[in-house]
Amino acid sequence: MQRLFGTNGIRGVVNEDMNIELASGIGRAVGSFLGGRGSVVVGTDPRTSNEMLKSALIAGILSTGSDAIDVGIAPSPAIQYAVKTGFGNFGVIITASHNPPQFNGIKCIDADGTELGREKEEEIERIYFGKRFAVKPWNLIGKLVENPRANQNYIEGIIARCDVEAIRKAKLKVLLDCSNGASGFTSPYLLETLGCRVISLNAHPQGTFPGHESEPTPDNLRDTIRIASALGADLTVVHDGDADRTIFIDEKGQYIFGDKSLALMARETVKARNGGLVVTPVATSLCFEDAVKPFGGKVLYTRVGAPIVARAMIEHGAVFGGEENGGMIFPEFQYCRDGGMAAAKMVEVLAKTGMKLSELIDSLPKYAQVKTKVECPDAKKEAALKKLVEHYRGERVDTTDGVKIMFEKAWVLVRPSGTEPIYRVYAEAETMEKARKLSEENKKLIEEIIRSI
Ligand code: MG
Repeated sequence: MQRLFGTNGIRGVVNEDMNIELASGIGRAVGSFLGGRGSVVVGTDPRTSNEMLKSALIAGILSTGSDAIDVGIAPSPAIQYAVKTGFGNFGVIITASHNPPQFNGIKCIDADGTELGREKEEEIERIYFGKRFAVKPWNLIGKLVENPRANQNYIEGIIARCDVEAIRKAKLKVLLDCSNGASGFTSPYLLETLGCRVISLNAHPQGTFPGHESEPTPDNLRDTIRIASALGADLTVVHDGDADRTIFIDEKGQYIFGDKSLALMARETVKARNGGLVVTPVATSLCFEDAVKPFGGKVLYTRVGAPIVARAMIEHGAVFGGEENGGMIFPEFQYCRDGGMAAAKMVEVLAKTGMKLSELIDSLPKYAQVKTKVECPDAKKEAALKKLVEHYRGERVDTTDGVKIMFEKAWVLVRPSGTEPIYRVYAEAETMEKARKLSEENKKLIEEIIRSI
């Protein structure tokens, strides 16, 4: 069957593959999936195409008899929280997250605020491709209601789950870079309410992303890093375009990679609860596991993908989870990546420990990772993985997602790409030299295996 939804919903270039026909079709499919009942919360990031796609999507929803609740521009986690707290019984987010401005995307949210599971997505795909739309007669068309409360509702939800008193006492100076994304409507007010002195940057939501590209990489954040150093801010918070992710810069102006901030948050969460399960994909650094183990933390590894991590957290009652790209999931709030909550919880960690971020990060175990790729025709992918597993018989091998071979204080992960004829090869060890060696050896090994098939 044809697929609509990838791991990040539907993404495409505006008015090419991401056009109003697609958006209205999804609207009709979603409304039909809901049986023309209930109401769908619809929100967007600030992209230039958001009103165009939203209007088409809502038209499709209304045609089936379902109602639409327009919450306007809001971070993805704020839209998810709106669904969870009963603004509607389903959600659709129009966002392309960190992609360049010519892109946009559509993502579906289940009644509990989590990203829609694959089975339900397939149901929507069947309706869409089979054109099995259940449109209603004139007197049963749905209604559109605007609800501007999603952002405030989200801010209040986060504040209710923070130690506000401790944070206020710490009087932290926070540089906040909203990357011209949706968080301009939430994070400045959130951090200010928490008693931080907030200096905001690129805080006006604007779909052309004039400040910098909305993926928070060190390269895109060169200006932000310079400003952070000059200001001597205790903490710099950077969100991606739809603010489901947060990257931090320490008080010395050092960019903190997402695996470090994830490990730190996992450690502090496990410490505060005297143990607990934390969840992350197999590609996450060993520093995550090393950080939580001394405090009674246990790690569950999953396939790559935030919704997969979130589902595993629900199933196993985890206390924390997330990915190495700055996506953190706080189960006491909601089961999705949450940039606002990550920012609030990080200021809470600084306030409660009384330590500087650079000190906290330095206290984590250090590892070096090397990422590379090997070309492999799709037809050979499965056979090559099998041979790789055979080659490493006797070693600790994990086949949760691709093949991960674990050594003492090191591992290699070989994952077939779902979209390209390549394998991604990750290698991690205690030093860069060891990681490089491990990477090169295994790259060669896989190339030999592929040739032999
Ligand atoms: Mg995002």
